[in-house]
Amino acid sequence: MGKILLETGANTSEGRQLKSLKLVGEKDGMPTQIDILELANPHGVKITIAEDIFTGVYNFENKSVSVRPLEYPHDLAVLLHELGHADQAVEPEFAALQDEYGGNADPSERPTEWLRADFERLAKAMPDIAKYLPKKSFLQEHGQLMKALGPLAEEKDSSTSQVKVLRDKADSSGGPAWKMRVLEQHLTPVELEVRREEYEKCKREAEEIEQEIAPLLAGIEKIDAQTNDIKKKLKELTDQQTDLKKLTSAPTSILERDATKRAVLWMRKIREKAGVDLFKPSEVPKERVGLSAITSKPAAGACESSIEDGVADPEDATREFSGHDYLMHALDTYRARKDFRVKPKGKDKIGFMPSVKSKGRPKKA
Ligand SMILES: [Zn+2]
Repeated sequence: MGKILLETGANTSEGRQLKSLKLVGEKDGMPTQIDILELANPHGVKITIAEDIFTGVYNFENKSVSVRPLEYPHDLAVLLHELGHADQAVEPEFAALQDEYGGNADPSERPTEWLRADFERLAKAMPDIAKYLPKKSFLQEHGQLMKALGPLAEEKDSSTSQVKVLRDKADSSGGPAWKMRVLEQHLTPVELEVRREEYEKCKREAEEIEQEIAPLLAGIEKIDAQTNDIKKKLKELTDQQTDLKKLTSAPTSILERDATKRAVLWMRKIREKAGVDLFKPSEVPKERVGLSAITSKPAAGACESSIEDGVADPEDATREFSGHDYLMHALDTYRARKDFRVKPKGKDKIGFMPSVKSKGRPKKA
């Protein structure tokens, strides 16, 4: 990679603001220089360099970018990806999608009114997806099942609190169970014999309370079974509907893929103009990327990849990979790399990756 020239503002609690960023390279034997902010930050969004960020963040609300210190090719690639989100924010179709970012809750666990509102907003943000949205009968059935859950939850609550009252009665100081234990544990057999009547009374009362609790517990078990049945039906219902979850997470997938697409196009320009190649693998220490990225296995999410990091072979500590490899890996963690054919209105190929071939996947060191 070429040399990075950058200027930043003073250190604040957020980090240092990036004032200028240039890459110095070489092309056809001639020195080159390219202004990255002029290329990829035409709207001049605020960019903060923060030490405590692992990769990068685009803040959808205040429309600013934060990235970690720029040291490796993939740091630059991440910055370009975040600037891709900033670039999306000025295009109405994408701005509408940005409002839906992160909507990937399990539809089988969402109240029907919320689900209906989700779908209405989705259809508004992405008119093309109307035909993929579930039919009216789905929402009706979903609503009925959800409705059945409410009273069951209430019934369970009331049984649980009755059990609690009875348990407290049996256990709290002075209660029969407690008194009985004191009598049993602290009196000699002779003393106990003298207070036999008191002991028997406590025992009887404690048994009565247990008898009262038993049917309540059985009731709770029954309610749990019914609740599980309904939840299972809800799950089956949402599973039958094709890719409902994919639909609710579509804005996130599309925005991620598109931000990476924009980053990749800028990376191509940087290669063309300055001869600095962010597609070229270079050595990156493990602690800077996480092993799951280095081994390039698709990871399901942050938790799984960090578990993988913890158990992976230390021999894999350093690998060669490029900024492009890193962005592709990041798309995997969003499950956003597979084809998803929904696209915002009026855009032909948005959401699809440009056909850039990564030369040299990470190989064993
Ligand atoms: Zn992103």
